[in-house]
Amino acid sequence: MQIRCRCSKCESKFKADEVSAGLKIACPRCGGVVMVPPMAQAIEDPTTTAIPRVASHTPPISAGPPDEIAPPGNPWPLRVGLAALGLVAIAAALFVVYLVNRPAPPTAIELRWPLADRKDAFLEISGNSIDLVKRDPLLVHVAPGPHRVTIRRKGFEPVIWNFTLIKGEQKHLTPEWQAVP
Ligand SMILES: [Zn+2]
Repeated sequence: MQIRCRCSKCESKFKADEVSAGLKIACPRCGGVVMVPPMAQAIEDPTTTAIPRVASHTPPISAGPPDEIAPPGNPWPLRVGLAALGLVAIAAALFVVYLVNRPAPPTAIELRWPLADRKDAFLEISGNSIDLVKRDPLLVHVAPGPHRVTIRRKGFEPVIWNFTLIKGEQKHLTPEWQAVP
């Protein structure tokens, strides 16, 4: 660090090393005696020396590192937010793909026909005999269009439905048996 000096004899300005602070030196121009200001005054010099000394001696600034640690921490909420946003975007994209590719609901006829009532029974849908598999509900996939469903059960009047199914429609049928007189 250097201290600014001014020779009172020849008015020349020059800088002296800080080790000369408070001492008398010879003016490099005229050789006159120049009193180098003490460091305290040099600090008050608003030019070169003041700012670095204040910066290096002020505790609040040395307490700065915690503040500088905080900024690297601050990006975390931002990163988490961006990550969450990315996941939401991916989920939305996958949902759109699912909506586009999901299989259309089957066109089907469901018979709400309890297993206990299927003994010695017969089911025919549009001329095709259907095995009364032992599962509940009894769901039979069919093509869209007009259908005729006939069910027969020993000791009861046959039950017949006629209807038309559109693509993806499911018809639910519940037989109401009437005993043969
Ligand atoms: Zn001088």
